[in-house]
Amino acid sequence: MPSWVRRAAQSLFSVLFPSDCRICGEPLLNVSRLPVCPECLHQIGRVRGRVCSICGERVLSAYAMAESDGMVRCPVCRRVDRPFRRAVAYGSYDDALRELIHLLKFNGVQPAASVLGRMLAETISAIEPGFEQPSVLVVPVPLYKGKRRQRGFNQAERIARAALKVSNARGRLRLAPDILQRVRETHSQIGLTSHQRRENLRGAFAVPHAADVVGREILLVDDVYTTGTTVSECAKVLRLAGAAEVWVATVARTLKLASKYAGIGEEEKPAVSAWDVHEGAQDEDVSAGEGSEILNLE
Ligand SMILES: [Zn+2]
Ligand SMILES: [Zn+2]
Repeated sequence: MPSWVRRAAQSLFSVLFPSDCRICGEPLLNVSRLPVCPECLHQIGRVRGRVCSICGERVLSAYAMAESDGMVRCPVCRRVDRPFRRAVAYGSYDDALRELIHLLKFNGVQPAASVLGRMLAETISAIEPGFEQPSVLVVPVPLYKGKRRQRGFNQAERIARAALKVSNARGRLRLAPDILQRVRETHSQIGLTSHQRRENLRGAFAVPHAADVVGREILLVDDVYTTGTTVSECAKVLRLAGAAEVWVATVARTLKLASKYAGIGEEEKPAVSAWDVHEGAQDEDVSAGEGSEILNLE
């Protein structure tokens, strides 16, 4: 290709796509509907180290011994019964993954949902062998209607929809976004004690039609698992309404022991991320977007 064609294409490119990576600020070199560079996306990996089989929290080596049932339990899950069967998360809620979630949630960058959805799909495939029913209802943690109106969408639902498009288990997963509702506005959970968090959420969720959930197996989905209070409250409400079982899958999780594990060796780093696995799908997204003619110049 003559160099002037390349230059013209590049300048046209920068006029039409003037964005920098919204995470690290480096100029983007390729056309993508998601304004995040590949380096930032590649930094996002699965949770490393041993985690609790029930809640997904990292466990110290003293607790990392599997019990007689083959499960590894953190100190909390040894003490209390969780209202869900298992909660699993794709990655640690920090750095690039945290930024990507914020881009969707607070900046309305919708293409982030498809990347986050692929991560969620990978997470779901880890628990799918445990599903007992042929059809599982996927329930996104709901927002209060005022908040949803203000944001324009529920990020948990967007991520769930994106996951269902690519999930291996999609044949048995059915999105059911309306069976659980947030009927009361709640304050931010930040800075509250665990007792205060539970009080804050008491009565916040409801199942308007119990018949929708009676005897059903449910997969509750959210963007982030922080203290687990929200998904626990949702799971309790679903179980009280008659759900047979509740599983939880989130894209990210706050890991309390993160700093202790900062030095974990590279050998534990996953060889492939959700991004690698589905890179082809991302290419489709790009060519389907505006500006595909410009791509063809290259
Ligand atoms: Zn970047
Ligand atoms: Zn646990």
